[in-house]
Amino acid sequence: MPVKWHEIEEKWQKAWEEAKIFEADPDPSKPKYFVTVAYPYPNSPQHIGHGRTYTLADVHARYMRMRGSNVLFPMAFHYTGTPVLAMSKRVKAGDADLIDTFVRIYKVPQEALKEFVEPIKIARYFHEEIEASMKKVGYSIDWRRDFTTIDPQYNRFIEWQFKKLRKAGFISQGSHPVGWCPSCGNPVGQHDTLGDVEPEIEEFTIIKFEYNGCFLPAATLRPETIFGVTNVWLNPEVEYVKVSVENEQWIVSRESVEKLRYLNRKVEIRETFLGKELVGKKVSNPVAAGEILILPAAFVDPNNATGVVMSVPGHAPYDYIALKDMKREASQLKQYGIAREALDALKPISIIAVPKHSPYPAADVVKEMGIKSQVDPSLEKATKEVYRHEFHNGRMKENTKQYAGLPVAEAKQRVKADLVKEKKADIMYELVNKPVMCRCGTECNVKVFEDQWFINYGEPGWKATAHKAFENMEILPQELIPEFNYVIDWLHEKACARKAGLGTKLPWDPEWIIESLSDSVIYMAYYIIVKHIKEQGIKANQLTDSVFDYIFLGVGQRSEVAKEASLNPEALEQMRSEFSYFYPLDSRHSGRDLVPNHLTFMIFIHTAIFPEALWPRQIVVNGSVLMDGRKMSKSFGNIIPLREAIKLFGADPLRFAVLATSELLQDADFSSNLARSVRDRLERFYRFAVENGQTQADFLGGSPTLIDKWMLSRLQRHIRMATEAMDKLMVRKAIHSALYALDQDFQWYLRRTGGQKEASERRGAIAQVVKNILDTQVKMLAPVAPHICEEVWEKTGGKGFVSLADWPVYEEAKVDTRAEESEALIRSILEDTLNIIRTTRIAPKRINYYVAAPWKWKIYLMALKKSFSMRISLNDLMKELMTHTDLRRIAKKVSRFTSQIVDEVNQMPDDKKNLRLEMGSVDELETLIAAESFFQKELDAEINVCSEEAPRRHDPEKKAELARPYRPAIYIE
Ligand SMILES: [Zn+2]
Repeated sequence: MPVKWHEIEEKWQKAWEEAKIFEADPDPSKPKYFVTVAYPYPNSPQHIGHGRTYTLADVHARYMRMRGSNVLFPMAFHYTGTPVLAMSKRVKAGDADLIDTFVRIYKVPQEALKEFVEPIKIARYFHEEIEASMKKVGYSIDWRRDFTTIDPQYNRFIEWQFKKLRKAGFISQGSHPVGWCPSCGNPVGQHDTLGDVEPEIEEFTIIKFEYNGCFLPAATLRPETIFGVTNVWLNPEVEYVKVSVENEQWIVSRESVEKLRYLNRKVEIRETFLGKELVGKKVSNPVAAGEILILPAAFVDPNNATGVVMSVPGHAPYDYIALKDMKREASQLKQYGIAREALDALKPISIIAVPKHSPYPAADVVKEMGIKSQVDPSLEKATKEVYRHEFHNGRMKENTKQYAGLPVAEAKQRVKADLVKEKKADIMYELVNKPVMCRCGTECNVKVFEDQWFINYGEPGWKATAHKAFENMEILPQELIPEFNYVIDWLHEKACARKAGLGTKLPWDPEWIIESLSDSVIYMAYYIIVKHIKEQGIKANQLTDSVFDYIFLGVGQRSEVAKEASLNPEALEQMRSEFSYFYPLDSRHSGRDLVPNHLTFMIFIHTAIFPEALWPRQIVVNGSVLMDGRKMSKSFGNIIPLREAIKLFGADPLRFAVLATSELLQDADFSSNLARSVRDRLERFYRFAVENGQTQADFLGGSPTLIDKWMLSRLQRHIRMATEAMDKLMVRKAIHSALYALDQDFQWYLRRTGGQKEASERRGAIAQVVKNILDTQVKMLAPVAPHICEEVWEKTGGKGFVSLADWPVYEEAKVDTRAEESEALIRSILEDTLNIIRTTRIAPKRINYYVAAPWKWKIYLMALKKSFSMRISLNDLMKELMTHTDLRRIAKKVSRFTSQIVDEVNQMPDDKKNLRLEMGSVDELETLIAAESFFQKELDAEINVCSEEAPRRHDPEKKAELARPYRPAIYIE
């Protein structure tokens, strides 16, 4: 029976749509659950990597629906921004690379491609493509609520958001450094760069060392170490230039000139020379008397800031190592006219005291890490290590003048501010994570942008509120909490508008267009009302600020607001009440790349606009997907669009494969083999369930026996584990319980009972257990593999959709420890017997099991009890046992048995002891006799079970007396 995946998928997608089961409207009788995932940019099809994030959100929505919530899971499309503009330009220019990507990887048909010269056509094409793939993969989305971010009504919503932010004082205008593409002439954020990297800007202090009437501006992240400078480093082999900067002359690397210009400095090049020409000359430190040497260093990178570096060997590992190297090779410095004595005079200067460190932390760390040369890559780590210690625990020493005694963190700020004020230093910005490439292929830099509009995430009061909101949220997985806290602290002014692209115009300065990370922070609220906007045909101009104030904040008089906006008061009220029902957002899903921007912005902006009760409640972050162990990338040619993957593997196997193999934050490793093996597994499940889950007619026959109770007890445990895992969205773990672990037990059950095929009086009872398991299993798998589960559900007589069935509930009352222990006994006896057969190579005719006599149980349980408080010893135990007359009579036997169990009892874990004490004396005879026919079948031999002291026992080899509780003696003939 081949499984026709695509038929099954289409059948159920159609059935869901017709029955409108994912369309959520307010229902006061149910708890609501509102889950969203970041809406996609329609500038490429979704691929398997996106598939993971969206599928996880869908699984979450489906799970909560089965848990009885009224779940709203909507979707929209983020047209905002410049990527489609850049793409259409490249199509127009006939860019072969991009066109190849469209045709070969994205499978865009020729006639559609022709239209891609218009940016909006690109967006519309991929919008449809993504929507179709989301439907084909079976997402339980309420499609009545989709919109795009260039809809005029949405523009009104964003205008309202921005007016609110401005009124609250969170919007500012000024000159600020931004990541910048010199070719596009636009600020760049994460979504404008190749590989989606956020440009990270770092502020350097450049301290001016005077030389011959001009300055060498040394760039540093640690201005407070100026007091420990022993020399200046230049790279002897690279080009430096003398430039005029306003009314000063500077000497900097050639590479830095352009960067200084982007920081709005007028820079003119006067002279060009190699660094070596200045080596050996002397400069003066702006805060100290005397002169210091310029020395050569290969580690100086002309691309980093000014290409001039000050040397602080006491506190900077690079400088410490470089100075050491230099002293070793002092003879080579003769060419620069530097004498060995001058080098010997250079000693690290200690200016910071750090607890548990010598005066020279740089030397300590270099020694600890075994660093030998200035090109050792671990120097980077060493530098961070020293900085961490000094920044958090260090204090400035006496030789730092007015800064003495200050914590390093404070001194850093004060030294910088003072030097800048006295014009002894300046500020320069640099990208720390360079090279960052714009999507157009140009390397980005930092530009100080004039009159730029910002959202001021650096405002301290706002930060405190964001922290408060964050603390009340659930973050999954929890290990991301420190990362979020770091981002909240670190965020500062963020450019929020551009001069180009699609989107909403800044309401008070319409030359600017609000950029994509700023118009996507509270749109979850818009999902709730867009349904009404579409149904009622509400126009953008009717959505006045007072309308939004009324709906979202409950401000104003309904009749007045409606009248002023020419809105039907009923419609206004419906929007208000639906918003009040579904908000706040219960869960937000996204990939990890949105932690440092979108997800954190969402928290900030919610606190700025909405009252505390409406702040988001949960964030779920997942890792990415690797393809055959490699990162997905166009250059590897291993990007598979979602629709393509569904065609190849089927929707359920795909959903399963991206979620079942890794925990939340791990990378999932996708491969065709994985998808195929998952598909095989699901097909096996399907066939078995359809074959065995149908019997309902003959549930008569026999009450449940121990093995039935065992199976139902194990089922409860799997339900509990799967439910606990799903609550934390640990889907891999949930699937493990619901499918693999449950199946292991199920297989054992079928082996023990012979399934329903055995025609016996127990057939009905077994069928009932099997049905129970399959019903439970299909429900637990339904969120992840909904299509095949609907099909099984229907074929096995389930009512309605399994998508709407109740998630199985853990029932403690059905947990049967006694049955579980008895079954464990049977399992271990079977294993022991098989082991004996294997090692002795006997072909058994008859197998004898002897169970322990009652007096052995008495001793065993006494020993267990005693061993809780102390280690038991044979002597003590014997003394006590001999006070019992019945045992004294068989003292020799007692002694032999007791010596056999002392070690076992002492080593047993407490919970197992508890369990066994609770069970008391187990009737092993009954248990084994009940399993006789099973043993017979498994071992293909006659089975004989008796007590070790049974009067007419067959025991030719005297094995019976070896019986112990839970370890019957075995004799094979
Ligand atoms: Zn560019």
